[in-house]
Amino acid sequence: MNAARPNAAIPILSVEGVVKHFLLPSSLISRLAGQPRPMVHALNTVTLDVYRGETLGVVGESGCGKSTLARCLVRLSDLDAGVIRFEGRDIAQLKPAERRGFNRRVQMIFQDPYSSLNPRMTVSQILGEALSVHRMRPKAEISGRIAELLELVRLPQDAAARYPHEFSGGQRQRIGIARALAVEPDVIVADELVSALDVSVQAQVVNLLLQLQEQLHLTVIFVAHDLRLVRHISHRVVVMYLGQVMEISPSEALFTAPRHPYSKALLDAAPELDPARRSSAIAARGELPSPLNLPVGCPFASRCPHAFDRCHGERPALTPRGNGQYAACHLTGFGAPDPTIQS
Ligand code: SF4
Repeated sequence: MNAARPNAAIPILSVEGVVKHFLLPSSLISRLAGQPRPMVHALNTVTLDVYRGETLGVVGESGCGKSTLARCLVRLSDLDAGVIRFEGRDIAQLKPAERRGFNRRVQMIFQDPYSSLNPRMTVSQILGEALSVHRMRPKAEISGRIAELLELVRLPQDAAARYPHEFSGGQRQRIGIARALAVEPDVIVADELVSALDVSVQAQVVNLLLQLQEQLHLTVIFVAHDLRLVRHISHRVVVMYLGQVMEISPSEALFTAPRHPYSKALLDAAPELDPARRSSAIAARGELPSPLNLPVGCPFASRCPHAFDRCHGERPALTPRGNGQYAACHLTGFGAPDPTIQS
């Protein structure tokens, strides 16, 4: 289990006030009435740092914005506001050559191993293409490098001549990992890496990623809804809700003493975690607010059992709570060792 955050002084990626909207199609009646197109607020001023060599878990319910954040981190989506910096440089301002370097150094592994590999290419061609596009090796060394990559992800050497359909889901995800590693990245963004796989295979792939992270000193952003896997693999965890960061915490601190009511509700409701630590009362009751119409105050106020007047009118800022934990909640003492909660 990873408890500490390595190399805490150097954020390799910084996310500052990032906002991302998606416009939806208007109905005919809305258009005739001249109403603006409805807008989904996918990310609402998200701020966080990712440190070199750490594994940062990103969790939250479906629709909380975690996959949108992953896509923004690898420049698959443009931002509507805010900035993402890689080694201090705004990634939206990179020159073409710098952008190619960024695209090589920050790699995404996609959720669906079935659709992310070209079915007409052998594994050798898939890996060879990744090596050639970024000119990672002279032509004469490519087959040797492919053999190294297969060994790295624990696939047999004869896999090189086979096509993706000849592999199981877990093996295909290993091919996806090998393709990402071919370009020697610094950062891997893994969006629901194993959610399409059988439970029996998930742990093998996650353990492989954990070993590779340590062996190759990778920075990993692990986006997942399975809290058990996130706990196993992450140094720190970001908890998101309705496009906003609710808590950032070292992994063990989050799972033993969450500092935000939503984090606690998420853990209480997770069947995969230790049943002994679950409370009988699930805190997050009620409707998830619409991402089309965000509440003015705390986004969790409509479901929070601790909500009070201030929560409905003022959005809480993400503030330090000690022990490396940060929470966006007006109850600054929530979850603290001292049971007296101050407001
Ligand atoms: Fe609950 Fe208020 Fe804290 Fe939001 S700010 S989590 S509503 S107590």
